[in-house]
Order: sequence, then structure tokens, then C-alpha cells
Amino acid sequence: MIQPFEFTGLPSHVLFGQNSLSKLPTVLAQWDVERVFCISSSGQAELARRVCGAATAKHQVVYCTRAKQHVPMETVERALTELQAEPCDVLLAVGGGSSIGLAKALALKTGLPIVAVPTTYSGSEMTPIYGITEAGKKQTGRATVVQPKMVVYEPALSLGLPKPIAAASAMNALAHAVEALYATNKNPVISLMAQESVRALASALLDMAEQAHLNEETHSRALYGAWLAGTCLGSVNMGVHHKVCHVLGGRFNTPHAETHTVVLPYVAHFNRLADAQAATQLTKALQVADIHAIGPALQDLARRNGLPVSLSAFGLDYADIELAAGDIASAAYANPRPVNHDDALLLLNAALEGLPMN
Ligand code: NAD
Repeated sequence: MIQPFEFTGLPSHVLFGQNSLSKLPTVLAQWDVERVFCISSSGQAELARRVCGAATAKHQVVYCTRAKQHVPMETVERALTELQAEPCDVLLAVGGGSSIGLAKALALKTGLPIVAVPTTYSGSEMTPIYGITEAGKKQTGRATVVQPKMVVYEPALSLGLPKPIAAASAMNALAHAVEALYATNKNPVISLMAQESVRALASALLDMAEQAHLNEETHSRALYGAWLAGTCLGSVNMGVHHKVCHVLGGRFNTPHAETHTVVLPYVAHFNRLADAQAATQLTKALQVADIHAIGPALQDLARRNGLPVSLSAFGLDYADIELAAGDIASAAYANPRPVNHDDALLLLNAALEGLPMN
């Protein structure tokens, strides 16, 4: 029987595929945009100039290349001062979750619409979720105003993404889709998107493992999977996997996408008996023999791509995971299987050592 559910479609216009960027000037003209505030990190400054050159030739562009991981408050304040000195009609974010994150923080303060041109698979471009870090603490929240009004996926733009970054980012996206499948507030539309996302991302990760440099077909498939995964992330609750990654990132500043990479197989294994429907869907999407093979298959995707498979790779030790287990158990996210302190410690200990799942 179909279980009762709620579904709200998120308002966002998506352009996907070759030459999508060429449609942007027409859209900006329809919105009566004259001045564009273009946001990137310093590493993607050149890329941002290329995007604006190609996409917004008729508009005046103010560049802000301050975006940094985890959106520090001082960065937001400086960017806001620049924006107030040179008022613009739209925020154009070019890059990964860090650029989009800064655009969201500015949208929250100004109400300006965001156009996102993502170059990683973080999925932030598809969510109304923002985060700002102040005094070592990341405050997150949801607000419709930060949901990008338009998202342009132009695969050729970000082919230069180094393969280790691409593979870890694809694992990060996979985590959004996997957690959406067993979300406590899941719905049929999002579950379909999540299964398709897992299929696309897993096959892209298998192909990436064979490539010295990312090829356009694989990158395009990974971006497609990331779009679906980001939509899932924006639409339903994330479970204990996201709590674990949030705690580890917050306490020990572990690298974002790589932390997801290490933790996901262990949490998927932990949850495999908690939601039979989700486990069956994951088994099919990953094309594995049974539900016990889900975690090992996810870890295999990481291993084939040379990504870390243990928390010890980030310099963590047992004392660290004991602290983390306390945080995880004290305010657990909605998860299909309850997580107490001992569960969290067992799970983290397996992830610490990269132990086989049984
Ligand atoms: P990021 O933007 O910092 O990018 C990761 C790395 O990729 C960086 O080193 C960057 O320089 C590099 N990179 C990006 N585009 C490139 C390109 N075209 N060529 C070469 N290198 C390129 O981080 P991310 O992994 O994209 O996203 C993680 C951040 O986003 C975290 O802060 C996370 O909390 C946030 N996030 C937010 C949401 C949300 O819904 N709010 C969702 C997912 C992630």
C-alpha cells in the first residue's frame, strides 16, 4: 500500500546540458537585470570571468572572489560591503558549494535572486538550505529566498575539475540520494529521483575510476546525478549520516566531501535493516546481490577512485570518535534506526579503522 506523504515542488528553473549557458542572457533580460554580482572562490576567478564573458556580455559585472569553505561570517560581511558599494540586481554564483554558500548568505541579507552555475556535485544549488560559520560554529537554516531561482549545468565548463575532487564530490552527492531513500519524511517522487541519482552517480564513479582525467560524458552523468541528489537533499530530512559528518566536520574540521565518502558505507550498512523498501531500492540501483552488499559496494566505489576509506586518514583517533559519539547521540537526526551512544561509537570505530562490514 502507498504510505501517506506530503510533497512540495521547489521553485527553481534548471537549464541542463551543452550550451545551456548561452540561454542565460535572455533570462537575465526577462528579469530586467542590469548589474550582476558574480561570486566565486579565488581559485575559480578565471572560470567566473569566462562564464560572465560568455553569458552576460550585455550586463555590468562586479566580481567577488572571496568564497571560502563553510562560509565564514567575516567573508559574508566583506562581500556584503562590496555589494552595497556597487548595488546589483542578481547574485551569480560560479563554482562549488562554497561559492553557492556565499551567494545564499548574501541572498539572506539582501533578498536578491541567485543564479547558480555549479562546477562540483555538492547539490547546494538545488536547496533552500544555507550555512554561515561564526566563532567556529556553523549555523544552518532553511529559507526560500536562498533557493537559487535559476541553475545552469554546463558540463564543459568544469571539465577541469581534478579527478580526486570530482570523485569525492560524487560520493558526497551519493550520500544525499542514499539518505533520501530512507528519509523519515520521504515521498514517491523524491524516492524515484533518489534511485535514478544513485544509478547515475554510481555508474559515473565506476567510469571515473578508469579515467586519468574526467571525460565530458562521465562528468555530465555525474552532474545529472548531483542535480537529482541536490533536489532530494532540499526536499526531505537527512538522517544519521549527515549528523555524523556535521559533527566530524564541526569538531575536527575534516574535509567535507571526503568525510562523506568514508562515513556513507558504514551508515548505509547500519541502516540496511531499518527500511526494507529503501534497502531493496538501493540494492537495485547499485546492482548488488542483497542488502548486506550495499555498504561494501559504496566503499568499493571510493576505493576504486583512490579516496580515503577510514577516518584515521584524517588524523582522527579513538579519543576523537568517543567525543563525536557523544555529540551524535545527544541530538540525533531523524533516522529510520534509532542511534544511541554505543551504536554511534561502534559505527565510528568501524569507520575509524576502515573495518570490513559484517
Ligand atoms: P567547494 O566549493 O569548496 O569546492 C571543492 C573544491 O573543488 C575546491 O578546492 C574548489 O576550488 C574546487 N573546484 C570547484 N570547481 C572547480 C573547477 N571547475 N575546477 C577546478 N577545481 C574546482 O566545496 P564543495 O565540495 O563543492 O561543497 C562543499 C561545501 O558546500 C561545504 O561547505 C558544504 O557544507 C556546502 N554544502 C551546502 C549544501 C546546502 O544545501 N547548503 C549542500 C551541499 C554542500
